[in-house]
Amino acid sequence: MGQVELSGVGKRFEQYTALQRIDLDIAPGELLVLVGPSGCGKSTLLRTIAGLETIDAGEMRIGGRLVAGAKAFVPARERDVAMVFQNYALYPHMSVADNLAFGLRMRGVAAKERRHKVQEMAKLLGLEALLERKPAQLSGGQQQRVAVGRALVRDPQVFLLDEPLSNLDTELRNQTRSELKRLHQRLSTTMIYVTHDQVEAMTLADRIAVMEKGHLRQVGTPERIYAEPENVMVAQFLGHPPMNLFELVRCERGWLWQDETLVLPEAAQAVLEHCPNERVRLGVRPEAIHPHPGAAMPQGQFTVELIEPLGNETIVFGSLGGSPASLRTPGSVDWRCSDSIPVGLDLAGAVLFDPASGARLR
Ligand code: ATP
Repeated sequence: MGQVELSGVGKRFEQYTALQRIDLDIAPGELLVLVGPSGCGKSTLLRTIAGLETIDAGEMRIGGRLVAGAKAFVPARERDVAMVFQNYALYPHMSVADNLAFGLRMRGVAAKERRHKVQEMAKLLGLEALLERKPAQLSGGQQQRVAVGRALVRDPQVFLLDEPLSNLDTELRNQTRSELKRLHQRLSTTMIYVTHDQVEAMTLADRIAVMEKGHLRQVGTPERIYAEPENVMVAQFLGHPPMNLFELVRCERGWLWQDETLVLPEAAQAVLEHCPNERVRLGVRPEAIHPHPGAAMPQGQFTVELIEPLGNETIVFGSLGGSPASLRTPGSVDWRCSDSIPVGLDLAGAVLFDPASGARLR
């Protein structure tokens, strides 16, 4: 129950190809987050799973049942999926309880069972005290909880959420995000969650699927995607500030970074031994640029341009050896704009990319 299998799924809007041969298996009970830049096809993919769009290629199964393909199209209402959108619309003239019960009533669920399910969902979502109110008497976050509850109360095999928190302010958004995660842990419903917010993606997901221009670029746990991005796009999309990229140039003795020969960790060295390139890009996360460099680290001068103190840590934007760069360091710093700070690169987690294709070298 709740498994979603996509195999070679394609979708065109006239001349425009919105989805390009998407292969993706979502396990029962998994929370998969779809991320990517605006227009990459996230909502389209979600809508095809919901049955709100047909597909032009491949096939799609939900709970083992073929729901879309060359010879099949199961309409949305028969797919046993529920969807919550960014612009959720509650029925304004109905109470919270009636809003929650609406889908059940439409399905002919008996009054006693309806009441029981609504009570259960209200308890789960902390809406018990609000059941008699009308939507206009609720805060944005409470309304969103009702929208989630209304979809979940039907106990769908798969729950689809399209940017459900984007209308909420930051505090409510963080709070509702934690609630959703807790809810998922308790219910273990398969969830597919679309967002362009990378913090939401990293904190909520069992696995993240990164999309770009209709392609699925990488699928993996948040930790894996952060540490081992498959290409430059994924590397720069997840993580704030984005991963730094520095150019390395081949020389007789090895590889030069800023005219100095670089001593790379063994794994990276092994990758470069097989690499025919004259130039590669070295990806270094901002937290791997250290203002108090160890003697063994490759060193450079970081020119400070902008300082963002966040309390527990500081993000500093500037340049390193002429390339734009950013670093993240614990606590606060007493630097000023235009200061030149000696820094070291911790290359233990560094990633290498091909400059032409952007693909990770391995
Ligand atoms: P956003 O984060 O901005 O919501 P998205 O990743 O969800 O973007 P989609 O809404 O899936 O992107 O759109 C993918 C592409 O398909 C876009 O270029 C969009 O313009 C196009 N598209 C979506 N729906 C239609 C449609 N009904 N007709 C034509 N083109 C469409």
